Amino acid sequence: MVQVFDALTRAIALRCGQVDEKEHDVTQKDQAGKSFDVVIVGSGASGGWAAKRLTEAGLRVAVLEAGRQLTDADYKEHVPAFDLQYRGRSKQPLARERPQQSGSYAVREWNADWFVNDFEEPYVDQSDPSFLWVRPRLVGGRTNIWGRACLRLSDIDFKAASHDGAGVDWPLSYADIAPYYDLIEDYVGVSAIPEKLPQLPDGHFQPPMGLTCAEMEVRTRLKAKLGYTLTQGRTANLTQPIHGRAACHYCGPCEHGCITHSYFNASFTTMADAMKTGRCTLVTGAMAYKVLMDPSTHRATGVLYLDRATRQPKEIFGRVVALCAQTMESVRMLFNSATRQDPAGLANSSGTLGKYLMTHFSDAGASGELPDFTERPALGGPERPCQTLLVRFRNLPGAPVTSGFLRGYAYGGSISPAFRFNAPGFGAAYKQAVTQPQPTSVSLSGFGECLPYEDNVCMVDPNTVDAFGIPVVRLRLTPHENERAMLKDMAVAAAEMLEAIGARNVQARSGMRGQAHELGAARMGTDPKQSVLNPFLQTHDIRNLFVMDGSSFPSIGWQNPTLTIMALAVRSTDYLQEQLRQGTL
Ligand SMILES: Cc1cc2nc3c(=O)[nH]c(=O)nc-3n(C[C@H](O)[C@H](O)[C@H](O)COP(=O)(O)OP(=O)(O)OC[C@H]3O[C@@H](n4cnc5c(N)ncnc54)[C@H](O)[C@@H]3O)c2cc1C
Ligand code: SF4
Repeated sequence: MVQVFDALTRAIALRCGQVDEKEHDVTQKDQAGKSFDVVIVGSGASGGWAAKRLTEAGLRVAVLEAGRQLTDADYKEHVPAFDLQYRGRSKQPLARERPQQSGSYAVREWNADWFVNDFEEPYVDQSDPSFLWVRPRLVGGRTNIWGRACLRLSDIDFKAASHDGAGVDWPLSYADIAPYYDLIEDYVGVSAIPEKLPQLPDGHFQPPMGLTCAEMEVRTRLKAKLGYTLTQGRTANLTQPIHGRAACHYCGPCEHGCITHSYFNASFTTMADAMKTGRCTLVTGAMAYKVLMDPSTHRATGVLYLDRATRQPKEIFGRVVALCAQTMESVRMLFNSATRQDPAGLANSSGTLGKYLMTHFSDAGASGELPDFTERPALGGPERPCQTLLVRFRNLPGAPVTSGFLRGYAYGGSISPAFRFNAPGFGAAYKQAVTQPQPTSVSLSGFGECLPYEDNVCMVDPNTVDAFGIPVVRLRLTPHENERAMLKDMAVAAAEMLEAIGARNVQARSGMRGQAHELGAARMGTDPKQSVLNPFLQTHDIRNLFVMDGSSFPSIGWQNPTLTIMALAVRSTDYLQEQLRQGTL
C-alpha cells in the first residue's frame, strides 16, 4: 500500500522544505497494490506514443492526465453555429473564465470548456510581445485541437549550428530519426505531395487531397518566376482509411473533434491502443506536481499529484518516470521537484534547465488578389482541412545567404475567393452582393525559426500558485534581433512574390506572435555540463527519469514540431526498453 496516511501534510511540508525525503518509506506500488514499470505524465502527442509503445511491449504503465476523457458524443464538428447560444460569433462570453485561452483561434464556443480556466491555472508571462500559452486539459492533450501540420526536419536543421555558428547541433542526425518518422507517418496517416526537397524530406505519405485550380496556378507561377515550392500543407488528416479510422469527409472544423476519427488525436489512436492492451492504467483529473525521489539511490520513485476533483494529494510509483506533459509543464515539474539534494531543480546539474526556450514566430506576410481567378464564394462546400505551404527558401546551404538574419521561414498560404461581408445594402440586395463572384484572395503568413537564447526561459514563479497550490510557470519568450529581422523579411518577400505572380492590391503586414510550439528548456546533448537530457531523452542526472516531449529540442528548425516530438518519443521508448532488458535502469 502506498503511504497516503498524511499525504497532504507531507506534500505541504515537502514544498516548504521541512521534510527530508529519507523519512518516507518508498514502495513501488499504487493504491490498488499494483506496481508499474513506467509512470507517464501526460497523454498527448508524446505521452500517447510512450503509453502505446511501452504497453504493447508488455510493460505495465500508469498515465497521469490532468484533463478529462472526451468521447465521440462530445465532438461538435457538425454542430452548426445557429445551434449555439452565441451563434459562435463572439469570444466575449468565453473570455469570462478564459481571458487568455480565448485569444487562440482554436478556442471557440464549440470547445471552450476543453481548455484551462485561466484564473484557476494562471502563468506569469514576461514576454514582449505577450505569449499565449494554449492548454486544453483533455486525454490526447493538444492533439485534440492542433493544426495537424506534419513536417520532417532535415540535416539542414539538425546540423544548422555547424553551418552558421548559432546555437548547438542536435546530437543526432536525420539517419537516426528517419525510421521513426516512417513509423509515425504510417500509423498517423499524413496526406502530402512528395516534393524531393532537401529542406523538407518526403516521407510515407497518404495520397494528397489536391490543390484547387487557383492554387495550382500560384504553384506554377512561383516555381517558374522564383523557383520556390508551394505545396499542399502536409497534414495528419486521412485520405484513406486506416486502423478503423475513416477517410476525412472535409467538413472543416477539426478543432471541434471528429466522430470519424479522421485526424490524428492521441485520444482515439495511441491512447486507445494502450488501453486495449489491458496494461495501461489511465488516471484522469490527476494534476502532477512533482517527481518523487529516493535520496539514498538518487532515483525517481514515482509522482506526487493532486486529484482535480477533491484537491487531495496522491502518490503513484514506478520503476521509471517519463514526463510527457508538454514542454513548459514538464520543466515546471522538474523545478517544483527540487530537493535538498537537487536544490536547483531535478536534472539541473548543468544549470541549463529552463533556458533556451523557443517557439516559431509568425504572422508577418502579405495578401493580394488574383484578378484572373474569379469565383463565387461558398460557405457550405467541402473544406480541405489544411492550407498550402510555401516551403523555406531563405539561407539554404549552397544558396546565397540573406543578409540580416540566420535560418529561415515558410509561409502558410490561403488561396480562395473571399466573401464581401462589408458589401452595401440590406436583405436580398445584400445577399446578392455578398455572394457575387470575387477575385481569388492570396494570403501568405510567415512562420520562422527562433534561435535558442539563454534569456528566453521557462521557470516557476515561487510567489504564484494555481488552484491546486502548485507554483506556476513564469516564462519569457521574446524575439531577438534575428527574429525581428526575419519577420520584416517575411512581409517584404511575400509582397514581392505576390507582385511577381501578377497579384493586384498587394498589401504587406507586419504581425508578430509566438506560435503554440513551445520547445527546448531541457535540451538534449552529449555533454552533461551543457544539456539536461541525453540523445535518448533520459536525464543525465537521474537514470530512471525521462522527458519525452518537446523540451529536448536544441534548436527548432522552421517546421511544425509535433511529428518530430512523436518520433523522438518512440525512439526514447525503444531505448528505455533496451535499458530495462539490460538491467541498467
Ligand atoms: C492551436 C494549436 C495548433 C497547433 N498546430 C500544430 C500543428 O499544426 N503542427 C504541429 O506540429 N504542432 C501543432 N501544435 C503543437 C502541438 O499541439 C504540440 O507540439 C504537441 O501536442 C505537443 O505534444 P506533447 O505531448 O508535448 O503535449 P500535449 O499534446 O499538449 O500533451 C500534454 C498532456 O499533458 C497533460 N498535462 C500537462 N500538465 C500536466 C500535469 N501537471 N499533470 C498531468 N498531466 C498534465 C495535458 O493535459 C496534456 O493532455 C499546435 C498547438 C496548438 C495549441
Ligand atoms: S475535416 Fe475531416 S478530419 Fe476534420 S473534423 Fe471533418 S472529417 Fe474530421
